[in-house]
Amino acid sequence: MKTALVTGGSRGIGRAVCVQLARQGCHVVVNYCHGEAAAAETVSLCRAEGAQAVAVQADVSTAEGCKKLFEEAVNAFGRVDILVNNAGVAPVQRLDVLETTAESFERLLRVNTESCFFMCQAGARRMLAGKAQGIPDYRPRIINISSVSAYTSSPSRGEYCVSKAGISMVTKLFADRLAGEGIPVFEVRPGIIQTDMTAGVADKYRRMIEQEGVTPIRRFGQPEDVADQVLAACSGLLDFGTGTVLNADGGFHLRRL
Ligand code: NAP
Repeated sequence: MKTALVTGGSRGIGRAVCVQLARQGCHVVVNYCHGEAAAAETVSLCRAEGAQAVAVQADVSTAEGCKKLFEEAVNAFGRVDILVNNAGVAPVQRLDVLETTAESFERLLRVNTESCFFMCQAGARRMLAGKAQGIPDYRPRIINISSVSAYTSSPSRGEYCVSKAGISMVTKLFADRLAGEGIPVFEVRPGIIQTDMTAGVADKYRRMIEQEGVTPIRRFGQPEDVADQVLAACSGLLDFGTGTVLNADGGFHLRRL
């Protein structure tokens, strides 16, 4: 059975990805860092879809965390077919780029970008080993969740933008390196999505969307909108376009006049 490993699968976008992959018949490894109860709830939701699922605590921003996560995933289900690098954090405090602290910059780069790079590395190694073993029906793939912030300036959270721009390059690097190995790598770019991450600024975003039309599709994105793009990347229909960016942003990426 195909197995999906979703980092930060306990809440928000990651949870929706877990549930939709479970609905597609995957076994699911739900990674979390701090929220054990939320991860257990995601596992229950996946099981309600008829899938097998386990929660694995691991801080993916550390080398030990990445190692532990893959070991426990393989112990649970024997293989990893789909790796979704979704775990991420926003700055604790939004500060103008003239005030950004080294501590916050380092945290964002470590949790958002370094984790993505080394999870891609660990995932690629595991997938190449799986191919060498001749696992049946094995078409592994990696999907990285970045953001419209990868190309959009928000001077009040510059370190987040830099961290997400880094994920775009991580995707390009691994898509290039793994193309010849038959492992496609995709980047999914969410726009403004209703989750805990945006809860503190939800009113501001709702006004920007519904009244000011910052997104051509005038509604708050939902985690399922992002999960749908992940499913598209898992379908096999996009594989000749390794490195492709899939926008889940209500059309935010369009230049408008
Ligand atoms: P969220 O609701 O805040 O959930 C974040 C998830 O990441 C949680 O499951 C959390 O687990 C996990 N996580 C954080 N640090 C981790 C670590 N070091 N190791 C393992 N897991 C960790 O966020 P979200 O809105 O769903 O965002 C998911 C991804 O989409 C992020 O990469 C975010 O940057 C990106 N994104 C979000 C939006 C948006 O509008 N919401 C827009 C663009 C991009 P614990 O609770 O256990 O710590």
